[in-house]
Amino acid sequence: MIFGFIVLIGLIFGSFLNVLISRIPKDENVAFPASHCPKCKAPLKLYHNIPLFSWLFLRGKCAFCHEKISVQYPLVELLCAIIFGAVYLKLGLSFMALMIALSFSFLLTLSVIDYYYKAVPDSMNLLALSTAIAAATGFQGFVLNLENALLFVGGFALLRFYLSYLIKKEALGEGDLMVAGTMGAMLGIQLGLMAIFLAALLALPVMMLMRNETDESKMVPFVPFLALALFIVYIFDSVFINYWNSLYG
Ligand SMILES: [Zn+2]
Repeated sequence: MIFGFIVLIGLIFGSFLNVLISRIPKDENVAFPASHCPKCKAPLKLYHNIPLFSWLFLRGKCAFCHEKISVQYPLVELLCAIIFGAVYLKLGLSFMALMIALSFSFLLTLSVIDYYYKAVPDSMNLLALSTAIAAATGFQGFVLNLENALLFVGGFALLRFYLSYLIKKEALGEGDLMVAGTMGAMLGIQLGLMAIFLAALLALPVMMLMRNETDESKMVPFVPFLALALFIVYIFDSVFINYWNSLYG
């Protein structure tokens, strides 16, 4: 019962994330005007704006101009619902669970914006980092999160210097540094390193496929891989800890 309610909140929050995704890169106000069709600008009626179901019911087309509505909309809503559901199953109802769910939601927003616009807006990035650091049960937990965040931002900055020197061009973006900080805050050192390794493993096949791509707009964004790896390792942390222990324990 509570689980269903949490998933519903996730769906609704996901449709707000879609608003952020379509408006932040264009510097538009995120609250006004009300939701409208990106093509014909017709304002949506309430029943056109029900997360997931409206898109399915309208078969992915605008109710007014019948222009195709991107699958991004239901997909982001669904992913946000999965985030809320998974975090609730892991942490129950708590301040920490709320902060973690928000942090993952902002990372989802960041990933989609990075994918479409090759941009990583600081607003979303700082929100993801701040909520990840705030996700603690007491002051000591908060300080530990902050320490781990600083360690990972620093470590990534160093890695960036080395890589950029070796390949003689800018490796990793500034946005990736902040995402690494979020990973450190949420996971701590051991799991955080595993998540970065997992992100590289996930990104590698895609980067190999695109290695001859010189068109900047088709370059592989790294943030979605970092965010996905962080989510997998966070939710299934015991699997990763057991694996680590079986290797080095
Ligand atoms: Zn339309």
